[in-house]
Amino acid sequence: MTIDEGYTKFECDWTECELPKFRETDELCRWRRPLHDAGLIGIYADAGIGFGNISMRIGSGPEFLISGTQTGHLRDVGPQHFSLVTNADPERNRVSCRGPVQASSESMTHAALYQTDSSIMAVVHVHSKLLWNGLAGLIPTTDPAVAYGTPEMAREFARLWRESDFRTTGIAVMGGHEEGLVSIGETMAVAATKILELQERLP
Ligand SMILES: [Zn+2]
Repeated sequence: MTIDEGYTKFECDWTECELPKFRETDELCRWRRPLHDAGLIGIYADAGIGFGNISMRIGSGPEFLISGTQTGHLRDVGPQHFSLVTNADPERNRVSCRGPVQASSESMTHAALYQTDSSIMAVVHVHSKLLWNGLAGLIPTTDPAVAYGTPEMAREFARLWRESDFRTTGIAVMGGHEEGLVSIGETMAVAATKILELQERLP
């Protein structure tokens, strides 16, 4: 397989600083652990490349808090592993962030989802060969020709939101991103539980 995780495709304008205090940080840390334990966030051991990341919108605008790049291998995370994305421009593939680490290389995927609808407050991006192979095409799936981290991916999420039941089910397969799925919700509990329950239902 082609592992395209870990390569920062987007331009990242990073201000290194301590992470400002947010109540969402604790929630992110708490929900990340069961996702990591389920193998939905982790590391491809052979390649040493992390996968999966979670985020929460801060306020009602474009800002969101997201796990940092290359944190996939960690079971326990703290505020030092998160970054605040203050602006993201899918068309120019450019992200501005501030915090102790650079935002995940998949920040653009998260940004694209937050831009899709203001009701989306939490995004979970996981990798699962089983879920991806089993569900691609059966549940809302982005065009396989569209790679992650591209402006086209943002348009794909918007299309699914309009044309499929993604709006109600909150889970989609990223057709052009091997093993990649996203889960969204009005809270992190909703987004994380959805994908964990899906995983549990697998034979
Ligand atoms: Zn991914």
